[in-house]
Amino acid sequence: MIITDTHTHLYSDAFNDDRKAMIERAIEANVTRFFIPAIDSSYTEAMFQLEADFPEYVHLMTGLHPTSVKETYKAELSHVEELLSKRKFVAIGEIGIDLYWDKSTLGIQQEAFKHQIKLAKQYQLPIVIHCRDAFDEVFDVLESEKSDDLFGIFHCFTGDLEQAKRAISYNMKLGIGGVVTFKNGGVDKFLGEIDLKHIVLETDSPYLAPTPFRGKRNESSYIIKVLEKLSDIYNVSQEKIADITTENSKAIFKI
Ligand SMILES: [Zn+2]
Repeated sequence: MIITDTHTHLYSDAFNDDRKAMIERAIEANVTRFFIPAIDSSYTEAMFQLEADFPEYVHLMTGLHPTSVKETYKAELSHVEELLSKRKFVAIGEIGIDLYWDKSTLGIQQEAFKHQIKLAKQYQLPIVIHCRDAFDEVFDVLESEKSDDLFGIFHCFTGDLEQAKRAISYNMKLGIGGVVTFKNGGVDKFLGEIDLKHIVLETDSPYLAPTPFRGKRNESSYIIKVLEKLSDIYNVSQEKIADITTENSKAIFKI
């Protein structure tokens, strides 16, 4: 069985004391494909170091996270462009709109999101979307940018059935993680109505640990809890869920 964590911040400071052991625990649990979203230029070096330490397992994205879209965003976008011109990345992410932390930057968040979608099209890469308290705003951008060459993952999907169908209509897979295991998470109520071909697994570690680790530091090996929950929801074996979602991740990342 091969399990794919399509969204894990393994370079995070939260793992500074035990990063190697933590990654080995995941590999031991059959989680052997790690897709690493970027946040901003302050993490670039740590991401390259992670890749150098675990070259067979780790696949890097580049991009500017919406909560890092501030006064410096133009320089940050130039950094993303420079990286893209120099070497290979598997996706542009994570990008999108976050109105939970700061509503005052909505205008420049929209601009940065659109700009990075154009880069994704130019480099024929998938996008990985971060959306928090901003479904309408994210869908507005996707509507204006939709095309056959725009595709990717709606990371940490927390919407309702209608929003799930709309995300899928824009060629997005739904990234399902710890929230599906939460009481009152909501997604578990309708997920069974969404075909597994639209689903990928993720942890978003060190954030959003699944039950029974909720509130603690998350790590990629905990993706097993998400796998167990999906096995219940779909009444399909864990092996089969792992297979299908890994195949889906290969279709997106081409790796
Ligand atoms: Zn993330």
